[in-house]
Amino acid sequence: MVRLPRLVIAAPASGHGKTTVATGVLAALRRRGLTVSGHKVGPDYIDPGYHALATGRPGRNLDPFLVGTHRVAPLLAHGAAGADVAIVEGVMGLYDGQLGTDGFASTAHVAALTASPVLLVVDVSHASRSIAAVVHGMRTFDPGVRLVGVVLNKAGSPRHAREVTDALDATGLPVLGVLGRDDGIVAPSRHLGLVPAAERAGAAAELDVLADQIEAGLDLDALLELARAAPELDAAPWDPFAEVRAPHGDRPGTGAAAPDGSRPLVALAGGRAFTFRYAETEELLRAAGCDTVVLDPRTDRELPAGVRGLYLGGGFPEVYAGDLAGNHRLRAEVRDAVGAGLPTVAECAGLLYLCRSLDGRPMVGALPADAAMTPRLSLGYRTAVVPADGLAGPAGTRLHGHEFHRTALTPSAGASPAFLLDGRADGVGSATLTASYLHLHWAGQPQLAQRFAAAARAFGRTAVDRPPLPSSGTAPSANAPAQVTGTPVPDAIAPLAGAGAPVADGTPRVSGVAGVAEAAGAAEVVEAVDAAALADSVAVAAFAAGAGTVGEVVLVGAGPGDPGLVTVAGKAALAAADVVLADRLVPVEALSWLRPGAEIVDVAKHPGGPATTQEQINRLLVAHARAGRRVVRLKGGDSFVFGRGGEEVLACAEAGVPVRVVPGVTSSIAVPALVGIPVTHRGRTQGFTVVSGHVPPGHPDSTVDFAALAAVGTTIVVLMGVRTLGAITAALVAAGLDPATPAAVVADGGLPAQRVETGTVATIATVAAEAGIGPPAVTVIGAVAGFAATATDATARD
Ligand code: SAH
Repeated sequence: MVRLPRLVIAAPASGHGKTTVATGVLAALRRRGLTVSGHKVGPDYIDPGYHALATGRPGRNLDPFLVGTHRVAPLLAHGAAGADVAIVEGVMGLYDGQLGTDGFASTAHVAALTASPVLLVVDVSHASRSIAAVVHGMRTFDPGVRLVGVVLNKAGSPRHAREVTDALDATGLPVLGVLGRDDGIVAPSRHLGLVPAAERAGAAAELDVLADQIEAGLDLDALLELARAAPELDAAPWDPFAEVRAPHGDRPGTGAAAPDGSRPLVALAGGRAFTFRYAETEELLRAAGCDTVVLDPRTDRELPAGVRGLYLGGGFPEVYAGDLAGNHRLRAEVRDAVGAGLPTVAECAGLLYLCRSLDGRPMVGALPADAAMTPRLSLGYRTAVVPADGLAGPAGTRLHGHEFHRTALTPSAGASPAFLLDGRADGVGSATLTASYLHLHWAGQPQLAQRFAAAARAFGRTAVDRPPLPSSGTAPSANAPAQVTGTPVPDAIAPLAGAGAPVADGTPRVSGVAGVAEAAGAAEVVEAVDAAALADSVAVAAFAAGAGTVGEVVLVGAGPGDPGLVTVAGKAALAAADVVLADRLVPVEALSWLRPGAEIVDVAKHPGGPATTQEQINRLLVAHARAGRRVVRLKGGDSFVFGRGGEEVLACAEAGVPVRVVPGVTSSIAVPALVGIPVTHRGRTQGFTVVSGHVPPGHPDSTVDFAALAAVGTTIVVLMGVRTLGAITAALVAAGLDPATPAAVVADGGLPAQRVETGTVATIATVAAEAGIGPPAVTVIGAVAGFAATATDATARD
């Protein structure tokens, strides 16, 4: 018996606001200082991600089909261990379960298995008194379900809410709260539902707003009272150590990894592309004697040293295909390791990652199949049968899982499929590999963890071999097929060929100094060339060819960081370009949109490194255009914000070269936005001022009156101010800006390495320095910076 205050949050159907109320209640109760635990009925991975964000603990699933009815209450007790209250979010309508089973695995079923009181959330936007009839029906349909209260969602007005509340009087159920039409989670949706919290930098700030709304709209004291009135939970907490055995019976965390490798290291895919993983999987692996580490296939460049097992769960590789494809080194390593028999489980996203390609982008290539998005949603419980002895079990093993995707594989299964899913062959299976669309909850099938741990222990007792990282050589990746012609671009851009030489092999080339690669996080370095010589050679080549055609120069703003921030017009200009002069802060993936044969010139200015002067750049632009080329000048952020774009336009105009500007998204707005900071916010600030901190206050070259800035009262956004931040903030405080004014510094916005540090105007310089923040970074000073306070949690890798 376990004393556990708890409440199931259910609804008459999907879309009534369960996730909003459950997540908001969790966040609001946590803010009151309670330890709260979030649970979700059914297999869904996305809602538990929001619960996790709200509670600071793993979000957990309760699904009788996946884990067996007998494990539901124990898993609840396990997940909620140490919590003051558990909130269980239902799935679909209260009584909707597996088709053809009279409601098996429904919310009502889970409420019954855990003897939990149920709170009903009802969207009242399209009715008034009739809501009472719906609630009455929900209540009486199954007398075993204990409905204890109602929350009205999307009320149009206080009068409307009163009408519904009065009608509900007859049911005797208390109305615990009313939410308006505009309340609730504003999280964006995508092809599989809400975008996972862990993919969204702004999710934590939104959650704060939601908690405010819930606190204001709901009677949380009454809600807690109902939760506390729940009977004791008649179950012993689930214990992974009772489900599997470790060879030495050791509990992890009690000592160093055994030197004989008896605690093999298993890498679990995580990060933005791999957000789907049941918490119990890791707990079982650890109980079975494995150590675990999270691997982010987007940003980690190699497998952890000594890895003996790989678990690639679900997520959204189709959204991050460019990043995953760009991580060549890891892709190659995973392909070799899987080929060498590294025990690997790949579920759905993991399956796609192991394919040759995903939507035309190169993936790992461990499986001879190609994956692509389809219009069709595959969703449902599956009973799987293992067709032949393998990692997933002896032939004939039956497992319970589910499918949830909008992609398909060609071919859909290998000669040796992983499973028969309701009779249909799926994926690839072997003694060391299970790769399939099927998601399995290992708590329901703990032998999967036991077998995986045994395979990991047996796998070559040496670490995966790897050569050292190259320090120079190949150029950055831009490996997506070019969009214009559809001709595939090879995996890596060829290293620098002769500057200005004709392009014959259909491959975009990089020339110039190192840096575009670094901007995208790639470490490879290309050789430096003398840009002046390059400009001259282009001019000479044009002259020699007697080129009378006058080309065009287009200034394109790109970024910051994320290629998704290039505008449609910018993308079109890139696709048409013959030559691109690229800055250091442009997203390198944008270069993959170039047509084959286009030339890339890196004209980045590197602090302390070889510099291409502005005059040289101007000459290059004019020379290429005069040679009849379509020239794109690709600049980080917006082309006219701190980028000397105006000078380039003037230079072209003076030389009689046609020039136009495609504005970009400036980092001064986008970088704060990426971490959930709006630069204006009603009631907090009426404007924002963007200044460059490239020279500190008082410097002879400075044109900013920082004392006046302190008095303006708008949000202050500082670009190029990492080194000068101490001097700038000191000047602002000296001029009377409240030292407690919130401040945030965001580095590498829109890149995988994005980081945010928060403090006040008085502390932020020290905070940033201690955190090792370096350029490029944007600093925001003002009340709105407070929105970033918890954004770091949201973007945390795991
Ligand atoms: N034209 C650009 C600004 C160029 S000045 C724009 O509109 O954004 C360069 C400064 O921009 C950097 O010092 C930094 O303050 C900011 N910046 C550019 N890209 C950034 C990124 N990805 N993350 C954080 N700051 C960035």
